[in-house]
Amino acid sequence: MRRMFDYKCPDGHKFEAFIDVDDKRLLPCKTCGKNSQRILTYGGPVLDPISGDFPSATRRWTLNRHIKIAQERREAVSHGPSHL
Ligand SMILES: [Zn+2]
Repeated sequence: MRRMFDYKCPDGHKFEAFIDVDDKRLLPCKTCGKNSQRILTYGGPVLDPISGDFPSATRRWTLNRHIKIAQERREAVSHGPSHL
């Protein structure tokens, strides 16, 4: 099973990698190339397994955008004409 994991190198650079849960190897930092350790964070199950090099920030943005649109729609309904 593959999941998105956060990694942090000795210099403090953070990056994410979509790798196997059982793969405990150190990964080279994407910024400086030093060995980076997996940070223990629970990001929840990956609902949309995209290609893998898709930054999760974009995923989060898309999710927030959906929520915002839903809220705006609900608001538009409640502010609309309540009687005909
Ligand atoms: Zn680094």
